[in-house]
Amino acid sequence: MSHTYPRVFLMSELKNPGLPDGWSHVSRPEQLVEAGSFDALVIDVAPEKISPLVRQLRSHESFRLALILSATETDELLVDGVVNLSNDNVLPIWRLWKERLDSFNLGKKPERFDERVIAWLWAHPRKRIEPERLPERANIYHYPLLEAMSSDEPVNQFVWLKLMQEQNWLQPGELIDRIRLCRDCNSGHLNYVDVCPQCNALEIARQPALHCFTCGHVGAQEHFLKDGVMICPNCLARLRHIGSDYDRPLENYRCQACQSFFVDADVEARCLDCDEHHQPDDLKVREIRAFTLTERGRLRCRQGFSESGAEAHFGRLNLINPDAFRNLLDWQIQQVRRYSVLPHGSLMVLRFANLRETMTQSRAMTLLDSLIDRIREAVRETDRCTRTNEEQLWLLLPSTDRDGMNILRGRLANLIQNFHEQDDVRFDIRIAGFTLPTDLLAQEDGTLLMARLGGEVSG
Ligand SMILES: [Zn+2]
Ligand SMILES: [Zn+2]
Ligand SMILES: [Zn+2]
Repeated sequence: MSHTYPRVFLMSELKNPGLPDGWSHVSRPEQLVEAGSFDALVIDVAPEKISPLVRQLRSHESFRLALILSATETDELLVDGVVNLSNDNVLPIWRLWKERLDSFNLGKKPERFDERVIAWLWAHPRKRIEPERLPERANIYHYPLLEAMSSDEPVNQFVWLKLMQEQNWLQPGELIDRIRLCRDCNSGHLNYVDVCPQCNALEIARQPALHCFTCGHVGAQEHFLKDGVMICPNCLARLRHIGSDYDRPLENYRCQACQSFFVDADVEARCLDCDEHHQPDDLKVREIRAFTLTERGRLRCRQGFSESGAEAHFGRLNLINPDAFRNLLDWQIQQVRRYSVLPHGSLMVLRFANLRETMTQSRAMTLLDSLIDRIREAVRETDRCTRTNEEQLWLLLPSTDRDGMNILRGRLANLIQNFHEQDDVRFDIRIAGFTLPTDLLAQEDGTLLMARLGGEVSG
């Protein structure tokens, strides 16, 4: 940056607010966009306007990682700090912020969704990815930071957090809440109702009952009363003494539909969004936690993400280790088996059949590099890759259906074709793919599925 003195903006609704030296005043977010860049923004608005304003700003590409401070005390998760309207207060915060961001990943600008989130955490050593409860939403909890940092592509926040844990970037904090979700539509809007254990009818009522010792009949108390005396409606025995002729049974609920008596009603969880009925034990349990950077994650921020040596080429993809990849694939398989309405997923393998031979040619390195870059552009931010050996590159595409996979496959094939037309280095790359759940065989798990798909590109 050419200027050493930061450009500080004050956003306030006042016409002529008192401004510290060197600050500029804006009153609407659009004016900031017009102004281009700034180093720090201090917002001075009514407390209830802080959250909507900050979230609106954060969702704008230019302000995702901007330093946004508030002049009013606030709990808003995406505010970078609370300050007084003075240079003495703002400048030290800005310097620290800039120092942290400048040192992030050896000065590389965070571009991808993953990098933006990590960079924000890196710049805020004491902040976490905090969940927020929004009862009006079907899945109750969400993470505002992840929402703000994602661009046009929607990110499945819980899947992403799991992936980042697998890759040892993030660690979970204490348990904040545990919620139960509908197995069919993932909604947390559930109504727990008492129902008849025999026929599941909703209409049950507590009703005094009697139990005849002579014949064992259990029935509503009113049916035992005849002309002012108690007579069993079943065996017509006269009931005189409680304890010796009859008693009151524990079964004092009665179903109006099937007339049965029972001790305890069953509990059923009914989804308010999709109407499905579930046993409470069958509901999906989700733990809600906040997340922080791991020690390893901080180290990677400081030393740079890229690994050295041979892995450098493939390292630019979101490579995870094969075990973690298999776990994710297993998990994805479970998801599509259990929740048939969820988006499907795809698995793809690329085999670089002659990698060893081609890497002896001097241009091959550069070509492979640019090929990997192009693959990286083609896959989405939530896709994950692994290598099970030097030659096989696997892509897990969690929300890609068959059409999407075929498009990607066509794109990769074109890419390789273009390379071959422009250069005499010949990568022999074979591609195969499956879509879940269609291509999944009964009982097949991730390992078997990968073995079957690997077979298609071998030989
Ligand atoms: Zn009886
Ligand atoms: Zn019933
Ligand atoms: Zn549901």
